[in-house]
Amino acid sequence: MQSIGKFTDDFRHQGMRKKLIENLREKGITDDAVLAAMNTIPRHFFLDMAFEKIAYEDKAFPIAADQTISQPYTVAYQTQLLQIKKGDRVLEIGTGSIYQTTILAEMGAQMIFTIERQKKLFDLQKNYVFKGKFLNIKFFYGDGFEGLPTYGPFDKILITAAAPFIPPKLVEQLKVGGYMVLPVDEGDNQRMLRITKKTDGSVLHEQFEEFSFVPMLTGKNA
Ligand code: SAH
Repeated sequence: MQSIGKFTDDFRHQGMRKKLIENLREKGITDDAVLAAMNTIPRHFFLDMAFEKIAYEDKAFPIAADQTISQPYTVAYQTQLLQIKKGDRVLEIGTGSIYQTTILAEMGAQMIFTIERQKKLFDLQKNYVFKGKFLNIKFFYGDGFEGLPTYGPFDKILITAAAPFIPPKLVEQLKVGGYMVLPVDEGDNQRMLRITKKTDGSVLHEQFEEFSFVPMLTGKNA
């Protein structure tokens, strides 16, 4: 059992989490490192305490500012495509609940820069439950379409909201050989894409399954 602040992770939570991980494996997630990270990090620490049980269902769930914590399958899927390596510098767009960010940290990324455009959600970092554990996460309040030119280039870029197009400034901030994983609009749903930056600066596209994300919007929201 572990307790951090007001949160406790006991055998019931661990049991529910184990079932969720088995469920993700059945749905086709194969990367053991991703499954291990998701088995280690208690997802119920990222939701209101009233929703402990729901935290271990494979569902997206409302958080503040009309946004959602991504579905566990989606988190696993995007993380698997990113192939996080120890030492990676990662840029994440859409901090939201900080759950996906924490999974990237648990996977061993060296530095994680995460941007959120909703002030209410950005402010969640003040009470971030793993503040003392993951000192390598840097939180930014801003517009993800701009990226963070002064901190780039990045080995990996992850967008956790539905992008209307591939943001050109983020492609610029991707290292050669680096991956950007993002859901791109196709009407009601989005197609998951993985972009690889080639030596000549051009990009390779790979297409995966369809998902449904909240929209990636320009500017900031107070
Ligand atoms: N990874 C988060 C997902 C939250 S939903 C989690 O699992 O909790 C997507 C998030 O992207 C929302 O919080 C939304 O406010 C944010 N977002 C949308 N457009 C953005 C932009 N241009 N820059 C930064 N964040 C953005």
